[in-house]
Amino acid sequence: MKHRDARAGLKTAALYVVATPLGNLGDMSARALEVLRGVDAIACEDTRHTRRLLDHFDVRVETFSLHEHNEAAATARLLRLLREGRTLALVSDAGTPAVSDPGARAVATVRVAGFEVIPVPGPNAAIAALSASGLTDPHFLFYGFLPAKEAARRKAIAALKGLPSALVFYEAPHRIEETVVDLVAGLEPQRTLVIARELTKLFESIVSLPLAEAPAWLAADENRRRGEFVLVVSAPPPAEGIDAEAMRVLDALLAELPLKQAVKLAAEISGASKNVLYDLALARKGKE
Ligand code: SAM
Repeated sequence: MKHRDARAGLKTAALYVVATPLGNLGDMSARALEVLRGVDAIACEDTRHTRRLLDHFDVRVETFSLHEHNEAAATARLLRLLREGRTLALVSDAGTPAVSDPGARAVATVRVAGFEVIPVPGPNAAIAALSASGLTDPHFLFYGFLPAKEAARRKAIAALKGLPSALVFYEAPHRIEETVVDLVAGLEPQRTLVIARELTKLFESIVSLPLAEAPAWLAADENRRRGEFVLVVSAPPPAEGIDAEAMRVLDALLAELPLKQAVKLAAEISGASKNVLYDLALARKGKE
């Protein structure tokens, strides 16, 4: 490996975590390219996949693999190179490494060892989907992939039901239908589902529909089940008679007081029904 001098202002003995395009190569940032050109080596989820990207941009830097099944050994290699003062990059097949992708454990180990880890932000499917979803909920929870097995998936969905946030999932084409059916069964069917498919690619589509209608919509055309998916579900509808302000008061009091006392005070302050607040408080506490 050729030891590169501090090129393009890159730090030595540091790991750059570099986001790469989801599909459209035009999304490769100038800084990502500068970093990939300047490092001594690039750790890749799949070296052959990344080589095609690097060839496209004429980046001639050594690569080695760092994926789910060799993360410990590959991380040891990262540490060895960092101790020699090398500058390294970490990339995944698409999007941001360590987000539903390999790299999180490597980054943790590198940080604990005292080396600098520098993010080079860029494409991420969840954020791209959210940004174009049209949902206005102020909070979201990024879940990533739900469990593949039905029982575990349903349990995971049930645990998310009471959260006052939009929910963001990743899903593969062969499981999209069953996952959407389970979302309908486990969440309020009047919530909105945004199905973001093939983002930044030729067949990109972003469709927004009532959750209850989604299974039939997917079943109607096999093209709707092809490609890569982000699912965004809007936050739950406010409970009847409870507005956002009453929820805010309840949450603030629940953080400080025992449940019964919090409910009593929240009812007095907001004028909302004590019984409804009590049920909501139980649901909130159940999630902790
Ligand atoms: N690290 C990536 C990121 O930053 O988004 C995610 C990697 S994860 C292994 C792959 C999943 O991300 C896919 O199954 C799909 O759910 C989602 N995804 C990736 N690219 C996508 C795209 N172009 N359109 C829609 N979803 C995509």
